[in-house]
Amino acid sequence: MSSSRSRVVIIGGNFAGLVAASRLSSGHDVTVVDPRADFEWTPNIHEILSGVKDREGVVLPRAECVNRYGHTFIQDFVTGIDRDSNTVTTESGHTLPYDACLVAAGSMRTTFGVEGADEHALGFRSVDDAERIAARLDKLATRKRPASVVIVGGGVSGIEAVGEILRRRGQGDAFKLHIVEVESDILDQQLDGLARDAAERFASYPVTVHTNAVVKKVSARSVLLESGEKLTADLCIWSAGMVLPEFLRDAGLKNADDQWLPVDEMLKSDFADNIFIAGDCAALPAPIRKQAYYAMDMGEVAGDNIGRLLEGRRLKPFCPKPMPMLISFGDITTWLVVGEAAVASPLLAAAKEGVYQATMARLASPHEPLRYSADIVGRAVTATRQLLLPQLTPRKILLGLTGSRVIF
Ligand SMILES: Cc1cc2nc3c(=O)[nH]c(=O)nc-3n(C[C@H](O)[C@H](O)[C@H](O)COP(=O)(O)OP(=O)(O)OC[C@H]3O[C@@H](n4cnc5c(N)ncnc54)[C@H](O)[C@@H]3O)c2cc1C
Repeated sequence: MSSSRSRVVIIGGNFAGLVAASRLSSGHDVTVVDPRADFEWTPNIHEILSGVKDREGVVLPRAECVNRYGHTFIQDFVTGIDRDSNTVTTESGHTLPYDACLVAAGSMRTTFGVEGADEHALGFRSVDDAERIAARLDKLATRKRPASVVIVGGGVSGIEAVGEILRRRGQGDAFKLHIVEVESDILDQQLDGLARDAAERFASYPVTVHTNAVVKKVSARSVLLESGEKLTADLCIWSAGMVLPEFLRDAGLKNADDQWLPVDEMLKSDFADNIFIAGDCAALPAPIRKQAYYAMDMGEVAGDNIGRLLEGRRLKPFCPKPMPMLISFGDITTWLVVGEAAVASPLLAAAKEGVYQATMARLASPHEPLRYSADIVGRAVTATRQLLLPQLTPRKILLGLTGSRVIF
């Protein structure tokens, strides 16, 4: 490689990092570092719990994508950023010099120090996590008595997990579900009416919602709440709490009290002129939700700005646009939230699937998204068969239309 090429290191190659890489010209020497081999589409990992998708259905091989963009992928874990020498170090001993660096390492889960949670609860943040949970559900479904499953966290991912477990009801009433939420309502960060609508839908299923509930201890077979109530838990799924990845906590990119890494509106770190931050780990001047779609938009601007910085051009601001949100609830319904309005319909599952397929295609081949590789065609066919076609039978369409409602 010619030494005249500017060197860019991207830490984390999922939503923000992969999109940023796709925006950078192969005229630069770009290296993406991530410990995991595959790009993971987290917004759909809940579907692994019911089996409508498998691992292949929600991942893309990261090395292939990065190579297709004309860059290098290193499967490794970044352990430090040295701002004096402008280098990134990795667990397996690489020292990677950079002229510009993008930090796109996302967030990690926390169990807030709750006794027994790390040991007995299964996390729900990655494809590996989802596969572990699915395997446990498979085992529990073979038992004679219904298994009690406790889901800690009644936010979007917790509720989507509940929807997928209910989708398995074909297995008989195998599960009794408990949602434990610390706030006064589930889906606390969403519009009020959504929690009401969700509660109405839970009513016909074996789901109990515990609000204002704090978990005190998780054991092998139970979850103890601070109120003293003890819930039987054949399985506990932890879907609450996210924090900055550990290696970033003392990387000199934040003040002691900051939870995330502060940036200006160009996504440039407040602490270094040649370091950009994008995705979940960034703290924007005006906070936005931590969502994949924002992470991708930030990745786009950060990638462009790194190119501009290296070419001595003026940087452009990141202007977040209001983002519609699709929250699925198994095959029962999907909610579309746009600003202050929400609509629910089982048929919206098709829209969610469409967004997913189109984005996967764009990530796989950003300049020719229609040139699907064979495995993406395979995924699209499988998803169509498992998710779209069941919704498109005449009976389901009728039920879907009658089941559709504008919530507010
Ligand atoms: C279960 C679940 C469901 C969700 N559903 C939705 C949804 O429906 N819609 C939505 O918009 N958002 C959803 N989100 C949120 C969305 O997944 C995040 O906002 C998004 O992943 C953030 O993208 P990111 O690129 O910042 O971080 P991530 O996608 O978390 O990627 C970070 C990358 O950095 C890598 N990394 C971490 N540490 C290191 C290190 N030390 N060295 C190198 N690499 C490292 C990781 O391996 C990972 O690949 C969901 C999240 C979860 C967990």
